[in-house]
Amino acid sequence: MNTDFRAIPGVDRILSDMRLSRLEASYSRPLITSLVRQYLDELRVLIRQGQSCPTIDQIAESIINRLISVEAGTLHTVINATGVILHTNLGRAILSLEARLAMDMIASGYCNLEFNLEKGTRGSRHIHIESLLCRVTGAEDALVVNNNASALLLAITSLAKKKEVIISRGQLVEIGGGVRIPDVIRLSGARLVEVGTTNRTYKSDFDNAITPRTAALLRVHSSNFKLVGFTRSILLRELVEIGHKHKVWVLDDLGSGCLLDTIKFGLDPEPMVQDSISEGADLVLFSGDKLLGGPQAGIIVGSRNIIEKLKGHPMARAVRIDKISLAGLAATLLHYIKGEALIRIPVWQMICCPLDELENRARQWVSSVRGRIDIIDGESMIGGGSLPGSTLPTRLVAIRDKGKNSQALLSIAQKLRQQRPAVIARIEKDTLLLDPRTVLREQDTLVTRALTEALGMPQ
Ligand SMILES: *Cc1c(COP(=O)(O)O)cnc(C)c1O
Repeated sequence: MNTDFRAIPGVDRILSDMRLSRLEASYSRPLITSLVRQYLDELRVLIRQGQSCPTIDQIAESIINRLISVEAGTLHTVINATGVILHTNLGRAILSLEARLAMDMIASGYCNLEFNLEKGTRGSRHIHIESLLCRVTGAEDALVVNNNASALLLAITSLAKKKEVIISRGQLVEIGGGVRIPDVIRLSGARLVEVGTTNRTYKSDFDNAITPRTAALLRVHSSNFKLVGFTRSILLRELVEIGHKHKVWVLDDLGSGCLLDTIKFGLDPEPMVQDSISEGADLVLFSGDKLLGGPQAGIIVGSRNIIEKLKGHPMARAVRIDKISLAGLAATLLHYIKGEALIRIPVWQMICCPLDELENRARQWVSSVRGRIDIIDGESMIGGGSLPGSTLPTRLVAIRDKGKNSQALLSIAQKLRQQRPAVIARIEKDTLLLDPRTVLREQDTLVTRALTEALGMPQ
């Protein structure tokens, strides 16, 4: 057996070390004590495996490092140099100044979230957003919940529990994070009826599948993949015609839900919420933090009687939106209403950023770094399950390794991630790429500093 066990100092001995006792004022004794205990538990395991006991100095240093990492937390700002505008892993849309100010204001004090100031009685949190959404989409009524997945769950649960929902096989998509549309439908207690084939679905497929148990027809925008070749999907207009003939609801899950015409920006067409409403969908569902460019939210717009049904369902309470997101969403919608979305909402500013500006910034990055680094033509992506295969021309900073050594590139990418803030690049075909489009202008100097560090050159 290892005799070193006896060399382990006790909790009190460690706590009385000057370096740690000095920190009690800023970190609290219970926190330091719990970190010391946790450290000692781990140390006993290591010593059992044959390691020798560290000195009291080394122990104190380890505890201080743990304190620092508790304080630093794990959620940090990063610099997105991937060129993917709505990067789900990097937090999707970043918000406009006005949205951030509105969120800060509501977070900092009490508000009339559910209080009618005029009457002095209880109010509804929904009124703060309904009229804005109706104005921008042309819908009769609106409801906002936590995110689009919960919007879909709420809609199907309220309207189709123990009944049938018909959907085309080509639209049974996985929406990211391992969440699949069929799972959401099953979770709601509705029965999923698949029609058509993977690549082709006709009007008659839906017509023939409707039974007295059918509650709804669901269209899901296959937002994160593209089916090309011998395909046929049913138009929303046709779905509405069938739905109304048989008196069943037509739900349209748009995913991103765009309010602006993406064709004008050189992108593929992304279905617009206003069009789904005018084509007669009973409910249209979309996310707040994709192309809309707001905070995380699930937005439901459509006919008043159905929205009322949803609002009254107990699940609406379970998936409700919080006051801070509500404030950010309202401020974001106001940009559309005032016709200033393109100049105020970061997602749209990035989409619209002119190529020569991207070129200039890429040049600045390169000139202050030097080395094995060039500027090349490339493409930025929308991401977030929006516009698959549709890209924007951009200028990229490219780092190639002379020996085509992908290990060396991975190591540079890792060094960029180790900077604070971390810089996230992408690797394509033996080249490390950084796209200025998704980097905020005020982060330019941070990028050049990170590049200098990662490429191992003196400042
Ligand atoms: C992204 C997406 C969702 C999920 O939206 P969240 O806001 O992330 O919950 C649902 N349906 C479609 C078609 C999507 O693209």
